[in-house]
Amino acid sequence: MLKGRINKIAGPLVVATGMTEAKMYDVVFVSDFRLIGEIIELKGDKASIQVYEETAGLKPGDPVYITGSPLSVELGPGLLQSIYDGIQRPLDKVREQAGDWITRGINIPGLDHEKKWDFNPVMEPGRTVSGGEVIGKVPETELIDHSIMIPPGISGEVTWVIEKGSYNIDTVIARVKKPDGETCELKMYQKWPVRRGRPVSTKLAPDEPLVTGQRVVDAFFPVGKGGTACVPGPFGSGKTVIQHQLAKWADTEVVVYVGCGERGNEMTDVLQEFPELEDPKSGKPLVLKTVLVANTSNMPVAAREASVYTGITIAEYFRDMGYSVALMADSTSRWAEAMREMSGRLEEMPGEEGYPAYLGTRIAEFYERAGKVKCLGDDDRVGALTVVGAVSPAGGDLSDPVVQATLRVVKVFWSLQAELAYKRHFPAIGWLDSYSLYTTNLKEYYDENLGEEWVQMVRKAMALLQDESNLLEIARLVGAESLSPEDQLILHTSKSLREDFLHQNAFHPVDTYASIKKQQLMLATILHTHDEMGRALRADVSPKAVFDFPHTEEIAAMRYLEEKDISGIEELQKKITEAVNEKIRLETA
Ligand code: ADP
Repeated sequence: MLKGRINKIAGPLVVATGMTEAKMYDVVFVSDFRLIGEIIELKGDKASIQVYEETAGLKPGDPVYITGSPLSVELGPGLLQSIYDGIQRPLDKVREQAGDWITRGINIPGLDHEKKWDFNPVMEPGRTVSGGEVIGKVPETELIDHSIMIPPGISGEVTWVIEKGSYNIDTVIARVKKPDGETCELKMYQKWPVRRGRPVSTKLAPDEPLVTGQRVVDAFFPVGKGGTACVPGPFGSGKTVIQHQLAKWADTEVVVYVGCGERGNEMTDVLQEFPELEDPKSGKPLVLKTVLVANTSNMPVAAREASVYTGITIAEYFRDMGYSVALMADSTSRWAEAMREMSGRLEEMPGEEGYPAYLGTRIAEFYERAGKVKCLGDDDRVGALTVVGAVSPAGGDLSDPVVQATLRVVKVFWSLQAELAYKRHFPAIGWLDSYSLYTTNLKEYYDENLGEEWVQMVRKAMALLQDESNLLEIARLVGAESLSPEDQLILHTSKSLREDFLHQNAFHPVDTYASIKKQQLMLATILHTHDEMGRALRADVSPKAVFDFPHTEEIAAMRYLEEKDISGIEELQKKITEAVNEKIRLETA
């Protein structure tokens, strides 16, 4: 193996000379400890290397071995249920070898090469194929069937496919004769460089909502399947609960969770909690559809930098099978800090707050890898990769460069507010300053599937809440009594929207999830009540009589109705109309 020599060591950054043969982003092994590193700058024969392991004890003159290949992950059966570090080393295997502390130079492959998987061929020899086509299927977990695909870039004639059977991932399962005559042996796994997005046939616009069962998200700030969202996470504002709810309830088939923890315990919580979650639709453990990439605080900063790429590459791979995949990255601020640290050590010209000038580009490139796509292959598979990134700016300051760079590229912002959490309004997603730019794209879907009223209802509800915030300002100055009956009605309805619709208890067995149909009925009922009360006011029923309404409790209890009973909500709407008729009759009698 070609080698250079260490010239300088600065924390996670090592500079080596004699590296003319190396390429940018090549993986290198540093010293005879064989610490894993990646070349992040090349100048002449000098390479700057970001080292993914503790560099203490290295010294100038130590060798640096050039592997000639970029940082890559192994993609194949065995990804699901795994917990990896930032460079796809399985944490349990690392622990077996090294105890609780990551010792150095441990080079464990991402997939188990011994374990046998049931391979079911779906392709006959003699076919001319290209990248993305499915050769066979492996039932990887009870929830997910894993498609073994021709790796991108390979095409030719299939000359042989192994018969159905149980094999490890190193077994050759097919041969493809390329146009140049060379024969390529395919295995059940492929390698892919993490910094390069996996190719797709075409990118499609996200035109279908990712239904999450969380009312404030689905109704007010929806994310398209294949879209991007950002959620800031002030401590205690319910970020973890939101992420768990999305992992459990969003209509995705595979979840990839990338955790870059600052404090060790943040990640420990995730590692303990995630395996206990249940997939509500199947009743099976959620881990059967999940891959975790975790950086605890005892891992070097550079490994955080790699972890988001490792995670998104794994997510793209499942997308390529035609699955709907959600990637959650928590927190991207930690990733940006790792970039800042490396950039500082490289003595690059700093941008805002010491972050490198390319911060925005890196963040944009990362979110660009989300999307709804027509997958490579011949069968019109459509996959989607939705990316939700948490940001955790110091002091919750949204003018922070990472937040700003993220908001420039993502299309949904769920503004978690400590103030709402303090009032125990959950999910604490602020309705006035969150936004979703997918509503236009999704309108056609809504019109077709929910009727045109849906979009109008949502607009009306949001307008009422906007009016409420202005009115509360006025009420603070002049007192609520001096508001007109119409304005009092706006306050009344807004309160109902907040408390009976937006508020949702993640820990209540029924309230934790609401189908879109149920959300629609609930919202329609609240707005129907608004219209009916308005009718009573116009018929000169006194505000007191109007607001003293017999069905208030039933409206508040809609959320606890099980899905099978939601027709009860339609009944309720009728009762509301009758109650108002009665009030008007009494008033005018
Ligand atoms: P963070 O991760 O932002 O520090 P958590 O997600 O742990 O905050 O939430 C803090 C607490 O808020 C939770 O323990 C829970 O009691 C409450 N909470 C958050 N979201 C909800 C929700 N949707 N429903 C009910 N309680 C919630």
